[in-house]
Amino acid sequence: MAHTAANATAETQATPLLDRLFEAGLLIRTGVDGLYGRSGTFERIVEGVDRLVTRIGRDDGAEAIRFPPGMSQSAFVRSGYLKSFPHLAGTVHSFCGCDADHAALLRCLETGEDWTANQAATEIVLTPAACYPLYPVAAERGRLPADGLLFDLQSYCFRHEPSLEPTRMQMFRMREYVRMGTPEQVIAFRQTWLERGTAMMRDFDLPLAVDPANDPFFGRAGRMLANNQRVQGLKFELNVPINSVEKPTACLSFNYHQDHFGTTWGIEQADGSVAHTACVGFGLERITLALLHRHGLDPAAWPGVVREPLEL
Ligand code: ATP
Ligand code: ZN
Repeated sequence: MAHTAANATAETQATPLLDRLFEAGLLIRTGVDGLYGRSGTFERIVEGVDRLVTRIGRDDGAEAIRFPPGMSQSAFVRSGYLKSFPHLAGTVHSFCGCDADHAALLRCLETGEDWTANQAATEIVLTPAACYPLYPVAAERGRLPADGLLFDLQSYCFRHEPSLEPTRMQMFRMREYVRMGTPEQVIAFRQTWLERGTAMMRDFDLPLAVDPANDPFFGRAGRMLANNQRVQGLKFELNVPINSVEKPTACLSFNYHQDHFGTTWGIEQADGSVAHTACVGFGLERITLALLHRHGLDPAAWPGVVREPLEL
């Protein structure tokens, strides 16, 4: 029986999004779930989103800093990440042995035994969220000025959460703005970005909802932390259906940390009291995937109102 156009469409939609992205050459397989190469086309969308976020925040005078995708192990430990998210952390280990150790390593490779057992932890861990390396740097500068501080960050981040959903990668980029100051200053910042981020995504004609959320805290104690976070309204996510309608994907997050990082790092407001912090995070790959899912895998065919702000 001849294929009708309708049949072909139904078949295409039945293919999982990840496979369609591979077939279209937008993502490139590496053999590891959640670890992908990106095509030039994919990157042009990512860069367009990044530039647009810069334009939206242009008049705020944020200080831009770019950290590499690794951070100091001691800062990572002090930040408390291992208390809340041990299951997501990625540490960098290295060979630190002598000739005899090298011979043992080569034997392991030959016999197929585990060669990683003698790797030693280095002073670097993979950055789990773009803002983590920032807090110790800000604390070093001394008390905040009266109007607080505002930073613009972007980093590749690592989270050990292998998945077949293209929206859940192990290495992905997060663009962030981070505000430090009084509770009033940081809450106003979060509200401003909630509105700006929602308008940006709505202008892309994406179906979306802003919902209370929680971080994926580990274990039984974590369930209580997650619950508190929701009850206190500390985290909101802007969700877009990408993999499924029932379980939409968080593309932007709006986080109020209260005095958590201020206390952890000794960041002080101008009057000496503990600083409050908040951050807005844009998942650059997730926003890109939301656009590809919504408007099709060929950006050249997207509506002008979507292509223009991205300069595509
Ligand atoms: P989720 O609830 O989906 O695990 P999250 O709440 O842990 O996400 P955040 O820690 O708030 O996410 O991270 C900020 C932003 O980074 C998210 O809004 C999302 O867009 C993006 N992000 C988080 N995890 C991933 C991932 N595994 N792959 C791609 N993007 C991600
Ligand atoms: Zn952050």
